[in-house]
Amino acid sequence: MEMNSTTDTDSVPARARVVIVGGGVIGCSVAYHLTKLGWRDVVLLERAQLTAGTTWHAAGLVVTGTFATETTINMSKYSRDLYARLEEETGQDTGFRPVGYLQIASNPERVDKLRRISDFARGFGIEVAEISTSEVKEMWPLFETNDVLAGFYTADDGRANPVDVTMALAKGARMGGARLMEGVRVTGINHAKGRVTGVSTDRGDIEAEFVVNCGGLWAREIGLMAGVNVPLHAAEHYYLITEPLEGIHRDLPIVEDPDLFSYFREEAGGKLMVGMFEPVAGPWGMDGIPKDFSFGELPPDMDRLAPYFEAALERIPTAKNVGIHQFFCGPESFTPDMSPLMGEAPELKNFFVAAGFNSLGIIFGGGAGNIIAQWMVDGLPPDDIRAVDIDRMLPFQGTPKYLHDRTVEMIGWQYISWPGLAPHTARNARKAPMHDRLAEAGACFGTSAGWEFPLWFAPEGVEPKVSYSWGRTKSFAYTAAEHKATREGVVMMDLTHMSKFLVQGRDAEKVLNRICANNVSVPTGQCVYTQWLNERGRIEADLTVMRLAEDRYFVVAGDVIHTHVESWLKRNTPEDAHVAVSDLTSGYVILNIQGPKSRELLNLVTSADVSNEAFPYRSMQEIDIGYARVMALRLTYVGELGWELYVPTEFTLHVFDRLVEAGADVGLRHAGLNALETLRLEKAYRDYCHDIDNLDTPLEAGLRFAVDFDKPGGFIGKEALLKQREEGVKARLVQFLLEDPEPLLHAEEPIYRDGVRVGYIKAGGYGHTLGAAVGLGPVANEDGVTPDFVKSGSYEIEVSGTRYPARASLRPMYDPKGERIRS
Ligand SMILES: Cc1cc2nc3c(=O)[nH]c(=O)nc-3n(C[C@H](O)[C@H](O)[C@H](O)COP(=O)(O)OP(=O)(O)OC[C@H]3O[C@@H](n4cnc5c(N)ncnc54)[C@H](O)[C@@H]3O)c2cc1C
Repeated sequence: MEMNSTTDTDSVPARARVVIVGGGVIGCSVAYHLTKLGWRDVVLLERAQLTAGTTWHAAGLVVTGTFATETTINMSKYSRDLYARLEEETGQDTGFRPVGYLQIASNPERVDKLRRISDFARGFGIEVAEISTSEVKEMWPLFETNDVLAGFYTADDGRANPVDVTMALAKGARMGGARLMEGVRVTGINHAKGRVTGVSTDRGDIEAEFVVNCGGLWAREIGLMAGVNVPLHAAEHYYLITEPLEGIHRDLPIVEDPDLFSYFREEAGGKLMVGMFEPVAGPWGMDGIPKDFSFGELPPDMDRLAPYFEAALERIPTAKNVGIHQFFCGPESFTPDMSPLMGEAPELKNFFVAAGFNSLGIIFGGGAGNIIAQWMVDGLPPDDIRAVDIDRMLPFQGTPKYLHDRTVEMIGWQYISWPGLAPHTARNARKAPMHDRLAEAGACFGTSAGWEFPLWFAPEGVEPKVSYSWGRTKSFAYTAAEHKATREGVVMMDLTHMSKFLVQGRDAEKVLNRICANNVSVPTGQCVYTQWLNERGRIEADLTVMRLAEDRYFVVAGDVIHTHVESWLKRNTPEDAHVAVSDLTSGYVILNIQGPKSRELLNLVTSADVSNEAFPYRSMQEIDIGYARVMALRLTYVGELGWELYVPTEFTLHVFDRLVEAGADVGLRHAGLNALETLRLEKAYRDYCHDIDNLDTPLEAGLRFAVDFDKPGGFIGKEALLKQREEGVKARLVQFLLEDPEPLLHAEEPIYRDGVRVGYIKAGGYGHTLGAAVGLGPVANEDGVTPDFVKSGSYEIEVSGTRYPARASLRPMYDPKGERIRS
């Protein structure tokens, strides 16, 4: 094999534009793609040999028909197509063979889920065919199919040889001018003034403009060298290879049987490989990953794994009659949410990370390298990266115990997916002070960014326990009741998880007004809804900015963009500006009082005048409740009269108790975030990271009203947005309501306009007031989308293989004139 190995005497270059740390599939893919984009001065450093970490022992499944987000579909499809053509380009075979990919469904919920995913995938050119039980049997005659209800088959998917894939990428990178050095260990990340400046190695230092951490299992430790949080943890990962088994041959499609947590494929010589994603996994490497761990295996835990493999072999009974050739256990890294960690580290400029691939590093490798390279070259990512961006993580998620405990659950998530699925491990550490009061009131808690918050409240005698389904869960009725109470009475919701920042200083107004697309030069006490845009005019954050004083603003955004908002703000504040940013997330609890009777409730607990005249919509005042002073914002995310109360944390229980006590007289109910979601969807309020993301502009997202093109000084992204305004948009986010009250929308359901697929539902829920499922999704059209185009179409939404007629609207279907919120 042609190799660009170094010897002990080779020294590292003194300087390079980019240093990539790690020579697994990811590092080699980043190197390859950077050279494709014309960056030649690229050096990759590998401590041992290429592929020596995790890559060498991967099973090599390269599949697309299983992914449920646009980004994961794009990454996997890109990889598959790249691996199919790399040999032609480099002369190095990747071993890719499109033997086909079959997913087995053996219960009705799984059929429903796979149907939905197949509907979605087809929109991206991935042909997933639903096949019958007898067709499954024909494809894999050795299978026991008594319990099989259906199969889902993607003919173009298949398998590759991970070592050959990596070598082909490495060869392509070298052909493009990159230098790949083996036997060089990175021992330090050098930086100055918040920007990376290079690396130290066991063969000397390299100055570099960019450093990319592709260190696989070691990526967390490499991050720590520079104070960068890379939350991932290694875990044991298993497959078993039998002795040759009659009927197993190289052209059999690879199979995933999610209900048995396993996958099957042929292994050279007519053997059978059975791979496992067990629901209770074994974390590994708690004392650090050994520095010299190369081409390593781990001692398998037979006792723990035996029951899973025994269950899996029920699918192929004859396999029980042959011996086990190999019981393989190797380490792979997993992240707290089973999504990779990609992008520029928020802590350090020009330090990129591509790690934590959760056993999908071969499938995603090509696509991930492509995204990272474009991101580095252009300064912005080419894809919707909100679910993979490393800056979604928070510092606490890098603690060893959190990672260890969460990893136990994550491996199994490969095959477990439900609408609203939330982890049950590593919970109950980040709680608002009234958590126990809410639990006593029957709260069923969900989690995001570590916060515990009520999803719904169980009535007397009902256990507040999560249950999952693609259909209606038992909490459907409880959420409906909370929804109704919000529309007709008054509810209290916990919104403490929102991220909150104080921005203050002489230049606060000037700096914020440049970052915000809306105008924040408003009188003190006014709240402004705004987006932050990048130079392309695309949305980086969606938030509320309140003016507290001439030189002081309060900025509130969603929990999952906490770190992103903070780093975006800091990076777009000129060095000499007189502005300080403080994170006040822990300083305030948010009690959200909503509903037509919320004024009545506030009147019972405050001496402040909360009439419409004294306290208009979108204004803010400090008011008293009991002995406390709280910031009250007349805002709503549900479409009713309401106030968000920002309570200093230490006063929480006092204020909470006052509200509950007084609330008894006006029928106050607790409501959870499931109701918040159904309420906001009826009002078509946007939710960043769900129905809008970093690829949308405010014009496409229907947020033109929140952009001030005329304010002095402009704003970041204005020029791009003006150009789009002139040219017209090619997609518009639209609200949909099914005509049939029965089917449910959960997201990803395809949208058809006059029979032509134009997008998919980005966020869906049940419109308990509107009387059917409601969702937000784009209507896209290459020749442009005008309001007339949207209005003149006839729409259907595809739910689990059936198309249902739907109404479409650019204005909120609930209270389109916004009269209720101003009442
Ligand atoms: C049993 C098993 C089966 C799998 N099957 C599949 C599959 O079928 N499909 C799929 O897509 N994925 C699969 N995977 C997952 C896949 O193997 C990984 O996601 C992928 O290999 C990760 O690649 P990487 O480049 O991030 O990490 P690695 O391959 O581990 O590369 C990281 C490299 O960094 C180097 N390094 C570390 N520290 C330093 C340092 N200080 N200086 C220099 N170099 C350093 C290491 O030596 C290593 O070579 C499987 C994994 C396992 C364990």
